[in-house]
Order: sequence, then C-alpha cells, then structure tokens
Amino acid sequence: MQDSAYLKCIDPKCGLEYPINSVVVECEKGHLLDVKYKNKQPVNLKETFLKRRNPEGSIFNESGVWRFRELLNFCQIDTEDLEECSKYLVSLDGSEGRQSKPYHMSKAAEFVGLNSGNLWFQPEGYNPSGSFKDNGMASAVTHAKLVNAKKIVCASTGNTSASAGMFAANEGIECDVYIPKGQIAPGKLSQAYQFGAQIIEVEGNFDDALSQSLEDAKNSSGYTVNSINPFRIEGQKTIPFRALEYLEWDAPDWIVYPGGALGNTSSCGKAIMELYEWGWIKKIPRIAVINAEGASTLSDLYNGKFNGEELRWNNGNPNVELIEEYYSDLDKKGIRPKTKATAIQIGRPANILKGLRALDFTDGVATTVSDSEMLDGMSVIGLNGFDCEMASGASPAGVKKLIKEEIIKKDDIVVGILTGRQKDAMLPVDYHNNPQNRFANPPKK
Ligand SMILES: *Cc1c(COP(=O)(O)O)cnc(C)c1O
Repeated sequence: MQDSAYLKCIDPKCGLEYPINSVVVECEKGHLLDVKYKNKQPVNLKETFLKRRNPEGSIFNESGVWRFRELLNFCQIDTEDLEECSKYLVSLDGSEGRQSKPYHMSKAAEFVGLNSGNLWFQPEGYNPSGSFKDNGMASAVTHAKLVNAKKIVCASTGNTSASAGMFAANEGIECDVYIPKGQIAPGKLSQAYQFGAQIIEVEGNFDDALSQSLEDAKNSSGYTVNSINPFRIEGQKTIPFRALEYLEWDAPDWIVYPGGALGNTSSCGKAIMELYEWGWIKKIPRIAVINAEGASTLSDLYNGKFNGEELRWNNGNPNVELIEEYYSDLDKKGIRPKTKATAIQIGRPANILKGLRALDFTDGVATTVSDSEMLDGMSVIGLNGFDCEMASGASPAGVKKLIKEEIIKKDDIVVGILTGRQKDAMLPVDYHNNPQNRFANPPKK
C-alpha cells in the first residue's frame, strides 16, 4: 500500500512529484500541488458510504468527511481498521460535515425563479466552527499530525482562523492566525480568541495577511493550513460528495459556489474529475463561481473584462502574465477588494489556476453579484429557516442572475453551497430595519 498517494505539481510542463509526507504547499518552482492517488476507487464503495450513515458508534462514520475516507486516503491506512483511523484521522468527535446535506428551500426557489424540486441548497454553516472550512481543516490537520507539525499557521478572513483554532485546540497544537486588522466579522474573531489561537493583526487586506503568514511560516517552521495546502482541498471534496450522494450520484446540472480564494472551486473540480475518471458519475456537473462585484478577479479575467482576453486553463498553459498584469493594474490604480461580504473580499485568489482547471473540466462559468443582491440572498435563505452569512448569499443571488441571463435553464437541477453561518449579528438587524430592502421585516413601534 505504501506510496499509493503522492503530491504532484499541477503544471503539466513541470510535473514535479513529492512524497506524501512532504511539508510543502507548492513545488520548488512555485506551482500549486495536487494530492494524487495511484489506485482507482471502486464504485461499490457507494454502498459502504451509505451504510456508514448508520455510524454504529464510530465517529469516523459519523463524520461527513471521514465517512468518505477511501476517497481521500492520503494517510494510506486500512480504512476499515477503526483503531488505525483514530490514530491518524483528525476529527472533532465526528462532527465535521455531519450535519451537511442538500435541502429544498421553497422561498429561495421562488426568489431565484426555479421549481423548488429542481433547486437544492447545502448549508455548510452547520459545521462545528460554523463554516465549510471544517471539512478541509480536518484533513489538513490530519496531514499536519502525520508530519509531526507542532504549530499550524493561516491567514484568514475569519472562518479559516475559527476552524484552525478549533482543531488546534482539540489536538493540543499551537495555532497562529493572521488577520487583516478591522476587516473580519466580530463573531469570527471572537472564535479565534476563544479557541486560544495567537492572533497576528496585519495592516492591510487578506492578500497582505496571506503573504505575511506564508513568509513567517517558512521562517518559524509553521504548517500552513490555507487552501493552497493541497490537503485542505482533499477534505473539501466531501462537500460535493455529500451533495452527490443525496442525489443518488445522479449529478446535477450545476453546483454553485461563492468564490474567494477558490479553494472550494478547486476541490469541487478535483472531486468531479476523480469521480468521472473512476466511473462514479456519468455526467459532469457545471461549476458556477460567484464573485462579489467588489472582488471580481476570477470573473473579470475569465470573462475577458481585462485586456479583452478570456483567461482559460488552456491545457495547463494559462496566460499567467495576464493575471500578473491584472494584479499590477489593481495596484497601480490603488484598487483594493471591497465588499461587505468579507469572507470573499479577496483580490488575489491563491488557487486561481486550480480554479481555472475546474472551470475548464466542468464547462463552468464565473459571474458577479452586488452586495445588496447577496444580502437579499442571505435573507431569503433565512426565511426558509436556514441560517447563512452574507458571502453565502452569493449562491442564491448568483443562481438568480444566471437564470435571468438564461445560462442556467428553467429545468436545470441546481445545487448551491451555503458556505457559512451568520457570524455578523448586526447585518440582518440592519437589513430588516431598512424598509427599502426586498425582504425587510422592520419591527413594530
Ligand atoms: C472562506 C469562505 C468563502 C470563500 O471560499 P474559497 O474556497 O476561498 O473560495 C466563502 N464563504 C465563506 C463563508 C467562507 O468562509
């Protein structure tokens, strides 16, 4: 079984490989890495996964991440041996991914303009730290443990630090979190404090915090758990796995994500590539990435809004100079990413190349929505009795826009991912106190 998993550079011209226990987030030429598996996983595991929904006392069956452990077995363990599982796999008592599955939401369906039966939303906010980040953090911290890391490090718009802090506290390892000062929701910041993480405030935005954390991690042998860590991507594959399982592996037409650093987009793309290659799904769902208007790097480049060229994966030869020119143009003009949805207020999406690969494989699309559209999206999810944060509101808002543009068709089956729970308590209060807002329900005086 040894060496059935390894790391490989995503650039086909480079293709450098590393053993699975390497502590690198990029190849020596600075390219992103993939976790690769030599063995194809048999389709009949679908029945095993389904059976584990009756966990029979095992937290690794209860966990919505580790229930699918054969499909992310980078530790190369005997997945049926529960003792081995508990030695290697990091889990918050089985709670990561446990509550997440797709739901029909009739008011959201009416808002976007689809039949309720065609539209699903999957709330990832019901993870233990309140966002989808727990899916990938369980697997990243598993790898951190495999390589005996003593400290994990991340930059964060809030939810990554909450998740990293939670797992670090539970595993008894240190955690440093770099946050853009004054730009993260109080509910997220307070979690990082609560879990005992060391907070480092960075003057600037998330992009600045990320470069500083990567630099410091190198110098202090910290283990980086941002989504450029390929093991984060492995755990986040279980988000589409759960959606697909509930749809009996009959792929929807669309999977829709808010887009920030594009870790989710990348992991969904990788999940679909592997499942398709292994014959688990017959159809390739299309990925739609929804950027905020004020932080629209992917959408701008993909749709040719910068210098007229539509940026594509191009068989592993994307025009990286175009991306660099876009970034220097932003710097030159002093444009900083700006949206009230701070979770996706990111100008330099670290996973942009993996994101392009995902869009290429799935014939995906990228678009933008405004802050007020996201707030409406967030609010209509609330009216179905589900709770999500503003960035997650990009999913319903994006579906609505793509239907209006007839990119998503009226009879398409759509799964939207709701990335996180509401942690900015005043946002809904302010929204509902302004009668001009579409779903406002102001208090009676
Ligand atoms: C991190 C985060 C995002 C952005 O996800 P990426 O994988 O970085 O694109 C979106 N919404 C919420 C709530 C988040 O916490």
